[in-house]
Amino acid sequence: MAQPAVTVSDPWEMALEQFHRAARYVPLKRGIREFLAYPKRELTVNFPVKMDDGSVRIFTGYRVHHSTVLGPTKGGIRYHPGVTLNEVRALAMWMTWKCAIAGLPYGGAKGGVVCDPKQLSSGELERLTRRYATEISVLMGPESDIPAPDVGTNPQVMAWIMDTYSMHRGYSVPAVVTGKPVSVGGSVGREEATGLGCALVAREAAAAVGLDLKGARVAVQGFGNVGSVAALTLARMGAVVVAVSDSRGGVYDPHGLDPEALLACKRATGTVADFPQGQRVSAEEVLEVPCDVLVPAALEGQITPDNARRVQARVIIEGANGPTTPEADDVLRSRNVLVVPDILANAGGVIVSYFEWVQDLQAFFWTEEEVRQRLERLLVRGFQEVWRVSEQRGVDLRTAALVRAIERVADALYTRGIYP
Ligand code: GLU
Repeated sequence: MAQPAVTVSDPWEMALEQFHRAARYVPLKRGIREFLAYPKRELTVNFPVKMDDGSVRIFTGYRVHHSTVLGPTKGGIRYHPGVTLNEVRALAMWMTWKCAIAGLPYGGAKGGVVCDPKQLSSGELERLTRRYATEISVLMGPESDIPAPDVGTNPQVMAWIMDTYSMHRGYSVPAVVTGKPVSVGGSVGREEATGLGCALVAREAAAAVGLDLKGARVAVQGFGNVGSVAALTLARMGAVVVAVSDSRGGVYDPHGLDPEALLACKRATGTVADFPQGQRVSAEEVLEVPCDVLVPAALEGQITPDNARRVQARVIIEGANGPTTPEADDVLRSRNVLVVPDILANAGGVIVSYFEWVQDLQAFFWTEEEVRQRLERLLVRGFQEVWRVSEQRGVDLRTAALVRAIERVADALYTRGIYP
């Protein structure tokens, strides 16, 4: 079916465009498409933080709940200077679809604070986190809204959120947030889950298109928690990592790079750009290097109609949320590049978040083996379902994933009914 030519750079417009493209394939009762296109509730908070130099700075944060149809809301918290309400809205909507595809009993949410965590001291970061957690505590709770890490946040930040919420309650509530350190009720395997999940999904996608992962060339944009683990795992599966980048730049070597050494370099210098091997490339150039599998694992809107023409990969595994614009999707489809969408490819994180929440609620913890097996089962099932919908309806994987997600949410919505 011919798609309208749209140029979108705003993440919320992107999310809506993707949704409306897919919603055409789902017979929805009147008003329901519109209902699903709106975020359920949005909170903006402006709050003060005492800085180390004694001054007080005002920060702006958000928490958006897109949908509560399938259960309490779930989604990460992002600390980044570029956070906007529209970005948080888009990320919240993507969480709804991501949870629905994986079969998790959650609706979608997201939060963010406009700040540069790299410029804050540990004390400032803790005070900012505790105040933001207090500000959004009107929405947050183990039965209502469960945050997790995202870009710029980590297990320590989650521990501060858990502690702040628990202090207000007067007792420990580990299930209020996931992605915590194991010592305070986190799950084994949560930190690696998103990157590991990307690699597992890449394995399924490669098998589906007849690409041998052994010796396949992989390029990864973003070498954070998602990209680095995806690179390490894909290398362990036999792939050759030929290019990686982070926000400061990247390296390319057609003969292959050692992901362990790249990680050591990143830990020591803060970037892979200084890696003493290969050719220097920018984060944009990494998207265009000769490779078989491309893993965009940085931020939204990286693959545009312009550079999509120059992507050389056969398969794209979206580690980041929203890395490909709808117009770039059209270009990639016309060039026969398989795009495995974010809401499927990076679902490993929220899947193990769900396992963490379940373990916290039961106060009964699983082994790493159990976590991994269950993760793999849900991801492989999700991939197979989406692949089947894509073949049955003759649509790309993003549309297929969204169709499956919208059907699930709509089904629950009809069964629950519209209140009152
Ligand atoms: N921030 C991650 C995502 O975008 C994880 C969310 C979660 O675990 O709740 O999927």
